[in-house]
Amino acid sequence: MQAAIAAMAVHTILSAAPSSHPLLSTSSNPSSTAPPSHSSTFHGVSFNLPQRHSLRLTAVASKPLTVVAAAKKAVAVLKGTSNVEGVVTLTQDDDGPTTVNVRITGLTPGPHGFHLHEYGDTTNGCISTGPHFNPNNLTHGAPEDEVRHAGDLGNIVANADGVAEATIVDNQIPLSGPNTVVGRALVVHELEDDLGKGGHELSLSTGNAGGRLACGVVGLTPV
Ligand SMILES: [Zn+2]
Repeated sequence: MQAAIAAMAVHTILSAAPSSHPLLSTSSNPSSTAPPSHSSTFHGVSFNLPQRHSLRLTAVASKPLTVVAAAKKAVAVLKGTSNVEGVVTLTQDDDGPTTVNVRITGLTPGPHGFHLHEYGDTTNGCISTGPHFNPNNLTHGAPEDEVRHAGDLGNIVANADGVAEATIVDNQIPLSGPNTVVGRALVVHELEDDLGKGGHELSLSTGNAGGRLACGVVGLTPV
């Protein structure tokens, strides 16, 4: 019975707004004489609230004022309907460039378009990742071009064994802030990206890079 009363009192502290509730109105006046059978409950009420309050104030006061360098790291595991698969890691220090480390296997030898697409949605395979990530509404280009999609990372090149390994350093794919690429998807394509210069009707939107062999959503991982 005592435990049940105590439980009720705790629940009241957490959920009830200050009101005319008999338990709370009594607690606002600790010196009032409560019935003996309820005294421990009332002590709990009157001591708990001030203690929590003072602890919170202490935590705020001791918070460091200096900003510590923030390293961020993310990873995407690429899969598709073929044998193509891979792991891509992205790292960024503060607001500096993002370094992308790529290792993808199962490719045909040669160049393959490699992009960040707008959505981290793979409900319909790589198709539902949408178009190239393009927050500035520009046309498709090469990574080094002024006019490009933020997601345009150019080509990666597979060797004779079908393995593509690359390190890409890029300024337009941050891991935080309004243009973050966390939650979007990396896609490796069937064909070479013509970097907007191929003269094909798709050159200025997709680089005419063909189908989507594998994709993976970029998610945060421990640094
Ligand atoms: Zn593009």
